[in-house]
Order: sequence, then C-alpha cells, then structure tokens
Amino acid sequence: MKGFFTGFDLGGTKMYCLLVREDGRIVERLRAKTQAGGSATRLVDGMVASIDELLARASLDRSQLSAVGIGAPGAVDFENGIVLNMPNLGLTDLPLKKLLQQRLKLPVLVENDVNAGTWAEFAGGAAKGCRHVVGIFPGTGIGGGLILDGRLYRGAGGGAGEIGHTIVQLDGRECACGQHDQVLGEYGCLEALASRTAIAKDLVVLAATGRAPSVLEDAGTDYTKVKSGVIARAVKSGNADVIRLVARAARFLGVGMANCVNIFNPELIVIGGGLVEKLGETYLREAEKSMRAHALSGLVRKVKVVQSVFGDDAVALGASLLAAESKA
Ligand SMILES: [Zn+2]
Repeated sequence: MKGFFTGFDLGGTKMYCLLVREDGRIVERLRAKTQAGGSATRLVDGMVASIDELLARASLDRSQLSAVGIGAPGAVDFENGIVLNMPNLGLTDLPLKKLLQQRLKLPVLVENDVNAGTWAEFAGGAAKGCRHVVGIFPGTGIGGGLILDGRLYRGAGGGAGEIGHTIVQLDGRECACGQHDQVLGEYGCLEALASRTAIAKDLVVLAATGRAPSVLEDAGTDYTKVKSGVIARAVKSGNADVIRLVARAARFLGVGMANCVNIFNPELIVIGGGLVEKLGETYLREAEKSMRAHALSGLVRKVKVVQSVFGDDAVALGASLLAAESKA
C-alpha cells in the first residue's frame, strides 16, 4: 500500500522531518543537520538519507511512499519548486523539486515554511473550521501564511505573506533582507524588531552591561546563541529590563498583526514557531493586546488569537499534507 508521506521543515542549519500516514497521523520524527556547503547534490543526499531512515524506522520502503512535501524558508517559486535563497547553505535559485523528483521518482512539493505551518493548523489544528486565517511564526525571522476563503493564498509568484518584511518603523533597525533607503536608512521591517533574533540582539547588550546575568551565563554576548529557551529563562528570572524588552517585541508583533487584520479581516490569527512555544501565554496576550489597540475596532472585535497546536511539527506536517493533497 502506498499510504505514506514525508514532510520536511528545512532550515539553514537543521532539518526536521516527519513520516505521516494518509490520515495525517505522524508515524516517525527525525532531526538531522542540514549540510550543503554550497552543493545542491549534498543537500539532496542528506534529505534522501533522512527519508530512508524514517522509512526504515517504520519498517517501510520507498515503494510505500506517495509524495514528499518540503517547507523551506523565505521566498519560494511554488510553481517550479525553486527555493530562491538559502543564505546559510550558500545556495540560490535551488530547483529542489526537480532534484528530489529525479532522485526519488515521486511527486515533490516545495512550499514556503510558514505557509505549510499555517496550512497544518488550518487542516487539523488551531484554525480548524476557520476560513480566513493569518499565521505568523516568529523565530530567526518572522514568516507569515495566509488562508483566504478556505484556500492557501500564495500570490502571483508564491511569495505572499511575507509579514516579517512589512515596514513598521521608518528609519528602523537593519533587517536580514537588506532593504535600505538612501535617505531614510534602514527600513525597519517587523522581523528586525520582533523576531527572536531581534530580541537576542537587545538581550546581549543588556548581558554585556551586567543587566541580564542569566543571559550572560547561558549564551555570553553572542546573540546567535540566544535561543528561545535562553529568552524564556531570562523572563522567568523576573528581570524587569528583560521583561520590558520582550514586551516591546510583542507589542511590535501586535502592530504587524493589526496590519494583517486591517488588510485581510481574518477570523483567527495563529502564532507558531519556537518563540511562542517557550514564552507562552504572557507573550501571546501582550501581542494580542497591542493588535487590538492598533487595528480597526470594527474588524478587531471578532478576531481570535491562538497559539499553534502542532508546535515543532507544524511546518513538516503541513508540507506533507499539502503534498498529499496536490497528489490527489
Ligand atoms: Zn526585512
């Protein structure tokens, strides 16, 4: 029987993969390092090895696999299955769909990671039963996914929902996207102010000046080492400066959410990703409060704000569900 799918959450340093049954139940999970070193072949080798490992663990083989779905960061050319930019891997315009299809002789779907995560929540998680949903996943950056009228909205080229690069503060902080204005300076993208990376950059300044001892202890002053767990521990320690910084990021996230409410009039916003997993309700409610203060009152009344149900599984699960659906 060919009743299984694999889904990937493909990151710049790690990949997380799931083996999923036709009915959406997760059978196996696997974490592996993403290794490419500028070589697409090496990346594909690693992905194929992960698939084989998942199948072996479940005593299955490739003949029982129906399709593969991949959630990849940033802009994706959905039609052609091309990942436009994976800076950590030294790869651009990566034709991942074609390469994996050639190797596996199976249908492959490549989707933006947060589109996939939002789809999982819509299909069977926090947004089940809704028709108009915005998904926002703050982490290294801030990804977004849009379900409009019951369908995943990808835009003209597959790049819709880049909520992290909406500009919420002119003359703001430099963003990884590199957008820059000759006169006004940096653009002040949402993710430069509210992502885990943004919070981490603020926290190491506190750490360096002796105002965030737990951060100094856990991560030193290297912001790339300030993971969500480090931020959560610093908040739990009751440090007022840390709490203020995290609340500020949450309020900016709320501004981004408010803009989404005003443009798309969603019934539900689902917040996913590692940051909300670790920071939980207080962070979520701070963002919600800011959203309610900044969006049009007529639209904001009926919007619910919830946390992802699938957590770490969301992106890989959504990718496998989308692959299953597109095959059918
Ligand atoms: Zn940006």
